[in-house]
Amino acid sequence: MAFLDDKLCTKINGHSLGADAQSGEPLRGDLQEFLGGEILLHQLDDLTKVNPVTLETVLRCLQARYSTDIFYTNAGCTLVALNPFKPVPQLYSPELMKEYHTAPQPQNLKPHIFAVGEQTYRNVKSLIEPVNQSIIVSGESGAGKTWTSRCLMRFYAVVASSPTSWENHNVAERIEQRILNSNPVMEAFGNACTLRNNNSSRFGKFIQLQLNRTQQMTGAAVQTYLLEKTRVACQAPQERNFHIFYQIYKGASADERLQWYLPDGAAFSWLPNPERTLEEDDFEATKEAMLHLGIDTPTQNNIFKVLAGLLHLGNTHFADSEDEALPCQLMDPAEYSVRTYASLLRLPEDALLETLRIRTIWAGRQQQVIRKPCSRAECATRRDCLAKLIYSRLFDWLVAVINSSICADSGTWATFIGLLDVYGFESFPDNSLEQLCINYANEKLQQHFVAHYLRAQQEEYAAEGLEWSFVNYQDNQSCLDLIEGSPISICSLINEECRLNRPSSAAQLQTRIEGALAGSPCLGQNKLSREPSFLVVHYAGPVCYHTAGLVEKNKDPVPPELTTLLQQSQDPLLKVLFPVTPQEKSQEEPSSQSRAPMLTVVSKFKASLEQLLQVLHRTTPHYIRCIKPNSQSQAHTFVRKEVLSQLEACGLVETIHISAAGFPIRVSHRNFVERYQLLRRLRFQVSPGTHSLAPAKGHSEVPPDANEATLQPLLQDILHTLPTLTQAATTG
Ligand code: ATP
Ligand code: MG
Repeated sequence: MAFLDDKLCTKINGHSLGADAQSGEPLRGDLQEFLGGEILLHQLDDLTKVNPVTLETVLRCLQARYSTDIFYTNAGCTLVALNPFKPVPQLYSPELMKEYHTAPQPQNLKPHIFAVGEQTYRNVKSLIEPVNQSIIVSGESGAGKTWTSRCLMRFYAVVASSPTSWENHNVAERIEQRILNSNPVMEAFGNACTLRNNNSSRFGKFIQLQLNRTQQMTGAAVQTYLLEKTRVACQAPQERNFHIFYQIYKGASADERLQWYLPDGAAFSWLPNPERTLEEDDFEATKEAMLHLGIDTPTQNNIFKVLAGLLHLGNTHFADSEDEALPCQLMDPAEYSVRTYASLLRLPEDALLETLRIRTIWAGRQQQVIRKPCSRAECATRRDCLAKLIYSRLFDWLVAVINSSICADSGTWATFIGLLDVYGFESFPDNSLEQLCINYANEKLQQHFVAHYLRAQQEEYAAEGLEWSFVNYQDNQSCLDLIEGSPISICSLINEECRLNRPSSAAQLQTRIEGALAGSPCLGQNKLSREPSFLVVHYAGPVCYHTAGLVEKNKDPVPPELTTLLQQSQDPLLKVLFPVTPQEKSQEEPSSQSRAPMLTVVSKFKASLEQLLQVLHRTTPHYIRCIKPNSQSQAHTFVRKEVLSQLEACGLVETIHISAAGFPIRVSHRNFVERYQLLRRLRFQVSPGTHSLAPAKGHSEVPPDANEATLQPLLQDILHTLPTLTQAATTG
């Protein structure tokens, strides 16, 4: 057991334990004696109670808890969740769910995601004013966000179902079970093995669990954000494509292999590292879950056939043609591949080849059509774009199908609990548009957190007639102004470059940003960067974004010919994914005029983020910060440096300060007097070694109701909450 060796940390809520904050006067002697005893660091359930609250002390406390297999710790209004990287079944058992669900005060039990789950459930249940709730789960890749969200969904599937399901919570057709089934399907299509996590979610997710007036779960609605669709055509070394491709490749029956042209041992460029065996490669589980969601076997087979087509598409490679006027040649054995995927995607082979290799340009006022052979690189880009287009539409369609299967009819639900599983703050050596979007989202969530928390506290204190001014807290509005503000911000400048569609170099973009936004306190320069870049000082730390490729990524261009090609498919699924609008039907060729106005990645993301925040604003938020104790995914390994950087990135110390700036525990005056009046009638002494109680010298009279059983809980309270209580008592 880790005893605290540093007396700094033994003080609880710092200033007030051991000595009075303002005067430095020691506390009453006999109490001091008790407080001088050893406190077990790992017993500190709430990080607001370490003192001083610094990265170092917080880190030490978390480490001490981790080494004793305690993975959850409160940090004021936030729950910190350390990833155990080992199965801890007893921590998520139905018995424990029940314990938290039935406890009179779940927050008095050990910190746990079920305590958060139960609290939100009770808030939503409040008959006076039921309020929608949200749980925002954040953390870096591999920290345990998806695991946590899944556990919470299981928790609600048990506590928010009809009473019989306590005994019978595995019945597949129940709505709760269908909601749970959405997880394996969405993970099969949206998760992949990366360097940092074997089951990394490559999209953000917000799920609203819908509850009726009797607080039973009647349905759910899922919203996804920023699927990393480039992964379908481009995987970093040692990483993999989305799980579903491996599931098909490894799990298809002999018959299916024939249908999908997947002979044993076939090699696919877009299927790297197939030899790695992962528990996520479970084709049967995905098919089963899809079935329960109402996706029947023929539709499933249609999906898998299209995905097999994409694998073959990835084997098409191009070689420069000798004559510039001719299209690129196909590299062996691409001829065979083209025929295969043309058949799997039910596309006309000639049109497919033409679309991949020839660009159509509409020139002049007359919209004259010019066809120009693409370079080798352009052909490859068009191939990748085709795959990304199909995959992203398939993913969106799947989410829509899942929603139609699990979403409750309007009118049958009254409130919801939202679970947000979103990428945490990211800072890599090379940061681009993806990181800008993710960090922008995190800035927004941080602002929401601070605003909500401070407002909630202030309102409560005002209602109680308490005087309190908050210590300085970091307001990130200026960073948000820099990123999204109007009229000029990083987003608006990148969008403008897309709109103007002019050739501009990475260096020019850097100069524009630096020139136009020079006044922002959050814009910095990374003098060490050799690449054109700009630096944003986020609340969680500075991040250097490279400008190369930023504008192009933001355009995310889809040549209109690709959509037109896919609209010609005879495949039932592709027909649904690429419908022909009546307007398009009346035109033979797409023209530049018929193209929709460009919606950039940043604009779309901003709009979906705003929508999310509007929803969150109407909820009472709860926060879970997942922390990854080491990057090797090893159990029993706490790498201080790695945890430290995550604590910095999630602004945890800041969070604790904000939480500690108010009263971490709030007791009404009446309850306070009722509970502690015994202490007023008593002088006592605690033996340091045994912590046993005895009347203090010269005080032989012990009230009849004062004994070990009645006093011990009060002493525990004092130990943990004295500063709060003394303040409350003074004011009250
Ligand atoms: P990403 O951002 O990459 O999606 P994530 O934060 O969602 O990452 P998870 O996939 O939830 O991370 O967790 C990574 C792995 O850590 C899980 O596959 C699981 O093996 C392990 N893990 C996470 N939380 C727990 C837990 N509470 N108990 C046991 N293992 C866990
Ligand atoms: Mg995840």
